[in-house]
Amino acid sequence: GGVRTVHQSLDIAAILRRAEQFAPGREVVSRRPDRSLHRTTYAELGRRSRQLASALLGLGLEPGARVATLLWTQAEHWEVYYAAPIAGLVTHPLNPRLHADDVAYIAADAGDRVLVVDESFLGLYAEIRDRTPFRHVVVVGQAPEGLLSYEELLAGGDPQWQPGELDEWSTALVTYTSGTTGRPKGVEVSHRAIAVHALSSALSGWLAIRDDDVVMPVVPMFHALAWGWPYTAALLGAKQVLPGRFLDPASLLELVAGERVTLTGGVPTVWMGLLTTLDGAPGAYDTSSLRAVLSGGATAPPAMIEGLRRRHGVPLVHTWGMTELVMGAIANLTDELRQAPEEEQRRHRHAQGLPMPFLEIRARGDSGLVPWDGRSMGELEVRGPWVAREYVGDPQASGQQWTDDGWFRTGDVVAITPHGYIHIQDRAKDLVKSGGEWISTPELENALMDHPAVAEAAVIAVADEKWTERPMAVVSFKPGASATPEELREFIAPKVARWWLPERVEFVEAIPKTAVGKYDKIALRQRFDGPDAS
Ligand code: ADP
Repeated sequence: GGVRTVHQSLDIAAILRRAEQFAPGREVVSRRPDRSLHRTTYAELGRRSRQLASALLGLGLEPGARVATLLWTQAEHWEVYYAAPIAGLVTHPLNPRLHADDVAYIAADAGDRVLVVDESFLGLYAEIRDRTPFRHVVVVGQAPEGLLSYEELLAGGDPQWQPGELDEWSTALVTYTSGTTGRPKGVEVSHRAIAVHALSSALSGWLAIRDDDVVMPVVPMFHALAWGWPYTAALLGAKQVLPGRFLDPASLLELVAGERVTLTGGVPTVWMGLLTTLDGAPGAYDTSSLRAVLSGGATAPPAMIEGLRRRHGVPLVHTWGMTELVMGAIANLTDELRQAPEEEQRRHRHAQGLPMPFLEIRARGDSGLVPWDGRSMGELEVRGPWVAREYVGDPQASGQQWTDDGWFRTGDVVAITPHGYIHIQDRAKDLVKSGGEWISTPELENALMDHPAVAEAAVIAVADEKWTERPMAVVSFKPGASATPEELREFIAPKVARWWLPERVEFVEAIPKTAVGKYDKIALRQRFDGPDAS
C-alpha cells in the first residue's frame, strides 16, 4: 500500500469520543422538575447520545434535517446537542420564553423536522403545532396519545452505534438571535466552528477550563448555544452541572455550594439577583469554590462587578458574545495589565475583554477604521473561524451585515484600548443622538446603578424637537429605598457630561426584560416614546 492521507475532521463526534474515552466517570448533574438531582456520567451520556442518534436516523430523516428542542438545561438536552450532529443531522434549540408566534416563525423559518419537547412545554407546543413543519414530536416525560416518548424512541436505538465520517464544514447546529433589537435571525454553526471555538475559548487566558473544573451554564442552551459550554466542558473532561428550570439565586447558590461549582456564566440580570440575595443574607451561602462567574449578553454594571468581588469575594468576569459567534471576548487581565495601576486594571475588568485567539477585530468610524486608543468610537467588525457567514435564508440581511471582504458587522459601537480590549459603548440601535452627538446608554445606566438606592436603570432615546433625541432614564429601586429625579441627576453629574443628564426620569417596579433577560428597550420605547407613550 502507498501513503494514505487521513483527513481527521474537527467535529462533535470527536468531542463526544474524547469525553467517553478520557473522562468516562466524570459526572453530569441535572436538576429535575421535582428539584432532585439526577447524576450521570460521560460514559452513560455518550452511550445514550449514540443510541439516540441511531434512533433518530431510524425515523428516516434526510441528512441535515433539523431536530428542534423545547427543553430546559437538562441531561436530555445535552444528549440531543450531541445525537443529531453526530448523525449528520442538525440541532436547533428553540427559546420557549419567546412569544408563541415567534417560536412558530423561527421553527418554520428553520424548517425543523423533529421536535424534542419537555412535557412542561406541551402547552406551548399546542399553540404552535398548526404553524410548524414538524413530522415527529418526541416528548421528554409523559407523552400524550399520538406523540413519541423520548425514552421509548431512545430504547429502540442501537447503543453500539458509532458515527460515520463527518464533514467538519457541515452544519451541526442552527441558532437564532433573541430579537432584542428586531426580528430573530438564524445562523448555521458548523462542526468545525464548534470545535475551534471550544479550543480557543478554553485556553488559559480565557475560560482556562481543566478536568477538575465544575462548569454550570446558567445561560440557557437556546441562548447563544449556552456559550458552547456543553461541548467545551466535555472536550476537557470537566464535570457539568445543569440547573434545569430553577434559575433563581437561591437554587443556583445551593448548586454552587453542593456541587462545588468552579465556573458559571449567564446574563447580568441573573447576577444582579444573586448579588441582592447575597447582600440580604451575608455568609449564608458558601461560594468559595467559584473561580469565575462570567457575565455576558449585556453590559455588566461596574457596581455589580465590584459589589460581588468586594462584598462577597465572588470573582465576576465580564465577557462578550453574540449568537453569530457564540463567545467572543473575556475580560481577564493580561500579565502586563496585572502590573498596571489599580485604576487601569479596573477599567479593563469593566470592559468586555480581550478577543479569543483566532478572532480578529477592528472598529470602523465615519471616516474609516479607528485607532486602538481607548477613545475613538466605531462599529466593531469581527472575523474568525467560528463567526457566522450569513443568516439562514436571508440574503438581504446578510448583505447588510457582512462587509465585502468578509467581516461581520456586530452592530456594537466600541472603543478598543491600546491593549486590544473591546469596550462597548452601546448597541448602534440604542445610542442616543442628541444635537448631533452620541450618548452611551450603558454609561448612563452604570452611573445611575452606582447610586445606593437604585436596583436597575435603563436609558432609552426619546424624541425631542430641539435636540432630535434626548436620553430618558427608567429606574427601579432596591427594596425600601428611593430617590428623587433631582437627587439622581446630582449623583451622576460628576461622572458624565453635563448635556448627558436626562431631563426625564421615570420610576417603575421592575424594568421589562426580553426572553433572555436583557433590558427590553423596544418595550420601554413603546411605553415612553411610542404613539401610546404616557
Ligand atoms: P440579541 O441581538 O437578540 O440580543 P444576542 O443575545 O446574540 O441576541 O445578542 C448579542 C448582543 O448582546 C451583542 O451584539 C451586544 O450588543 C450584546 N452584548 C453581549 N455581551 C455584552 C456585554 N458584555 N456588554 C454589552 N453588550 C453585550
